[in-house]
Amino acid sequence: MEKIIDINKLVRPNVLALKAYSSARDEYTSVGSKMIFLDANENPNETGVNRYPDPQQRKLKAKLSEIKNIPTKNILLGNGSDEVLDLIYRAFCEPGLDNIITLPPTYGMYNVLAGINNVESREVLLTEDFEPNIEEIFKNVDSNTKLIFLCSPNNPTGNSFSRDNIAEILEKSEGLVVLDEAYIDFSEQVSWIEELDKYPNLIITQTLSKAYGMAGIRLGICYASEEIIAVLNKIKPPYNVNELTQNRAQYRLQNISEVNSEIADILSQREVLSKALLEVIFIEKIYRSDANFVLVKVDDALKRYDQLLNKGVVIRNRTNQPLCENTLRLTIGTKEENLKLIEVLKSLD
Ligand SMILES: *Cc1c(COP(=O)(O)O)cnc(C)c1O
Repeated sequence: MEKIIDINKLVRPNVLALKAYSSARDEYTSVGSKMIFLDANENPNETGVNRYPDPQQRKLKAKLSEIKNIPTKNILLGNGSDEVLDLIYRAFCEPGLDNIITLPPTYGMYNVLAGINNVESREVLLTEDFEPNIEEIFKNVDSNTKLIFLCSPNNPTGNSFSRDNIAEILEKSEGLVVLDEAYIDFSEQVSWIEELDKYPNLIITQTLSKAYGMAGIRLGICYASEEIIAVLNKIKPPYNVNELTQNRAQYRLQNISEVNSEIADILSQREVLSKALLEVIFIEKIYRSDANFVLVKVDDALKRYDQLLNKGVVIRNRTNQPLCENTLRLTIGTKEENLKLIEVLKSLD
């Protein structure tokens, strides 16, 4: 059965009433033709970046569309996933009225953005095996629940949620479900992009910050129905993805085999590291990871964190996250970095 969702009922009334700002660069598809561009008050002298960037990032979207096998009309790009997530809040959540659901332990930005946007965040803990607690989630959902955030593979636990659980949440929810796939390229699971047609309430976010090795350029990606993308397009700053970012991203995506071989390397390093961690006496548990990091439980997280820091290795202490007492999150580094990490871990007393 196809799910039916009236997006207009979920959009904030002021956003629904908005007309998108039309920028000078919107009106003509590209600079560089024989036209003389005297429309945007730019400096005409060539610096490589003297022109405003394409507000719709057409070339970059075309490349992504090809790689991810999804039409460009279902793609929106932002200044990192952080901007994409913020746009989703601003489009759908009325401050002081609407609420969202997050499933700790998870990515901290969902709650930071809820706070910034003055939107109530209802936290429903994952189960002991780090799966969504569906019964509890829907006890917390009401008619003002606009978004449910799922992160799969989840940060910091590293596991992917079961597909049945994700499907059940999508089916039961009358609001939108934001599925954060920041780590999907490291995962054995396939992306939910292929399911977008089936679930008009699904918004998927991805990023070039992790597997694609481009955290520095800030490029976040949103895949959703044409209707949802149109709403987000109305409120996005016209030039939110700068020219340098668009160019670097396109260049990297043209060399997708390089990206894939780096991913394969990181995954094989994850296995090497996970095995070596078994021999570290104060590590009590190594959680199964579907991402480019490993969560481990130790005897005393703060003590081990400080010891590593003193030896020049910076990791993430997650002990204050619910269900994560005495855990540390280790990002997979290069082969040499991982060897060093293991050497240091084994030397600690
Ligand atoms: C790292 C990460 C991101 C990436 O955010 P960007 O703003 O695109 O760099 C998004 N979601 C999760 C869960 C992450 O861990």
